[in-house]
Amino acid sequence: MSFCYAQVIVDLNNKEVDREFTYLVPQNMQNIKAGMRVYVPFGKQKRLEGIVVSLSEKTDVKQNLLKPILDIIDETVVINQEQLTLAKWMQKKYHAKAAEVFRLFVPSDMRKGKTQFLQMLRLKQNSEQIKQELEQMRSGTKAYRILSTLLEYSDMEKTQMMHIVGECYEPLKKLCAQGLIEIYNVPRQRSPYLDIIPKQDEFLTLNPTQQKTLDAILNAQKYTPFLLHGVTGSGKTEVYMQAINKVVANGKTAIVLVPEISLTPQIVLNFRKKLGSNIAILHSALASGEKFDEWKRILSGEAKIVIGARSAIFAPLENIGLIIIDEEHENSYVSDTHPRYDAIEVAKKRARYNDCPIVLGSATPSVNRYYQAMQEEYILLQMPKRANGKEMPKVQVVDMALEFSSGNKSIFSRELYEKMCKTLVSKKQLMLFLNRRGYSSFVMCRACGETISCENCDVSLTYHNNVDRLRCHYCGYEIPLPKTCPSCGSKFIKQFGAGTQKVEEEFVRLFPQNKVVRMDVDTTRGKDAHYHILKQLASGQAQALIGTQMIAKGHDFPNVELVGVIAADNMLRLPDYRSRERTFSLITQVSGRAGRAQTSGNVIVQTYSPKHFVIECASKHDYKSFYEREIEERRAAWYPPFARFVRILFSSEDAQKSFDASFDAFSSVRTMLEDYKQSLLYSERSGAPINRLKEMYRNQILIKLKEDEFCDEICDKIFEIVKSVDKRNLYCDIQINPVNLF
Ligand code: ADP
Ligand code: ZN
Ligand code: ZN
Repeated sequence: MSFCYAQVIVDLNNKEVDREFTYLVPQNMQNIKAGMRVYVPFGKQKRLEGIVVSLSEKTDVKQNLLKPILDIIDETVVINQEQLTLAKWMQKKYHAKAAEVFRLFVPSDMRKGKTQFLQMLRLKQNSEQIKQELEQMRSGTKAYRILSTLLEYSDMEKTQMMHIVGECYEPLKKLCAQGLIEIYNVPRQRSPYLDIIPKQDEFLTLNPTQQKTLDAILNAQKYTPFLLHGVTGSGKTEVYMQAINKVVANGKTAIVLVPEISLTPQIVLNFRKKLGSNIAILHSALASGEKFDEWKRILSGEAKIVIGARSAIFAPLENIGLIIIDEEHENSYVSDTHPRYDAIEVAKKRARYNDCPIVLGSATPSVNRYYQAMQEEYILLQMPKRANGKEMPKVQVVDMALEFSSGNKSIFSRELYEKMCKTLVSKKQLMLFLNRRGYSSFVMCRACGETISCENCDVSLTYHNNVDRLRCHYCGYEIPLPKTCPSCGSKFIKQFGAGTQKVEEEFVRLFPQNKVVRMDVDTTRGKDAHYHILKQLASGQAQALIGTQMIAKGHDFPNVELVGVIAADNMLRLPDYRSRERTFSLITQVSGRAGRAQTSGNVIVQTYSPKHFVIECASKHDYKSFYEREIEERRAAWYPPFARFVRILFSSEDAQKSFDASFDAFSSVRTMLEDYKQSLLYSERSGAPINRLKEMYRNQILIKLKEDEFCDEICDKIFEIVKSVDKRNLYCDIQINPVNLF
């Protein structure tokens, strides 16, 4: 077969050039293949990177307009056939440009054509000749020290030499020119966490429930989506590892996605210990060079198993036999920047292409997913008991309104304070949790626990500080901030939520002789920050952990006896239809941290809503009852999975521009929606809750649609409308069922 033409996507993120361009394939490049990277001339640019998406023998493009490909960049294909198909699908599904999608597939270091090399030094003559040379030189000079060092150590990294003799660019150049030494490159090989030496662990003997789950997964020869609902500690991870082991033994490959935050060295080590070293890790906190190395190991077929966060779903694996997504309920699987892809949707696409099973696991499945399982879109697998046979920990609910009325105005209830004292005295450890958004945006009465909710929707109103008003994000209802509680008249009404820092201060004041570590966004920047904080707890250096989430998964803390949820309402009352399921999940996950020890452990949940069904179900570890009640609430209020929210955000440094754009787009959207009256539930244009952010003026359009057969079509049209908006000095962002509405 001989090809004459190549269709190329150039690496430019620009909608004007978002299409394939045809180039001539020169005679000497007949080894070219689709999926290879090439350099091409483009417009004024002499040399631009691109990806060959297809080859052909004919073209309609006029011969005199055709330019030849300049060069093939790598000797191999970097985007495989499956990824080329996937890219097409993603372009359509997420309204992304081809170049944007390919950038997700290929690590940034690779794109710059910058292969990672180590510069090495070695002698170019034998040691006798060098010794003679040294005799002629003045000792002590840099050149002298370089030669004598190389004589002693032979090959050496250039940077290492610089540590020994200091800056030595000039002398090295001179020695090279004299033919005494040479500088050569070797590819850099790094593997994250390799400092932890892997050792081979035996697999555990599965209990009957685990075995049944494993069999179900392995017996599914073709595309089969599973939802694995297993309580914390039911041994899901062991099942994953044994399933992967089988799949790899059969000559296939596997991907495991975990939330960014739980991809700790511990998890990696556990996998390595059981599955060996053919695992590649992809993690956003890796240095770009490290990512590049791991990616190369996958591309070359050396790594058969990929473990990683969201973007690891794009790993260039071939012949995938199993995809696992742990903690499927986590928000972090949906990209928070454009293109806003959902890694779980992408994973299902890949599973379909490879005709293999996909397992979504969770102790608290997302309500939407569980609903889909009830509709038989997933096969439901259940592991209702802990693998070690222990009971689930006892959860005690404390009514904070009662505490307040009996005179306790502290962050800690008397019950929690007492248990904390006991725990610390008996040399045990404790964990205190607050939800991530400690400084929340809703208003709550400290005397009676009343939050101010929307008249039309069952969600809390959001405080807009620039206008000092409360507003509903789902329907636009709005009132001024009241001075006293509408329910009990108390003036202790205020924005609610003590941050982790405040809890830490209080702890230090009450227990000055104990060490506490804090884990939140402020303390966990950097690759291994979580790990170092948790290590202090694991080693017993610290007696208490104050954290924003249940990210301690993967660590066993046998000495933790007490877990406290400081303010369950903090999350429960957030103005978001998912706040109930998140609260249920939070309580369940943190309870899972207690009672790993010999004693069963205590969990205390502080709340102003002790009778709320979410709190009641969570304290009884009863997901099923929670789900049944929640899905009815959603059906009644038209929330997902029965509806879909679309938010279009306009931001610009120019306030007028932002406003006008939102106004114009809204009028086009309204006109378009005339044809879909049946599907439209609600639409509004307004300022965004945070009107001005980082110098940008923000306006939004919020649309609520029935989840029906027209929904996708309407969304496509919304994207088209937004595409046609003049984008100079303006950013437009479309979010489907957004997680944050700020
Ligand atoms: P999950 O992922 O469901 O939260 P894990 O896989 O982390 O649960 O298992 C919880 C604990 O139970 C771990 O300490 C694990 O070693 C242990 N475990 C899992 N399966 C078994 C088994 N079959 N026999 C004994 N212990 C087990
Ligand atoms: Zn409302
Ligand atoms: Zn009140």
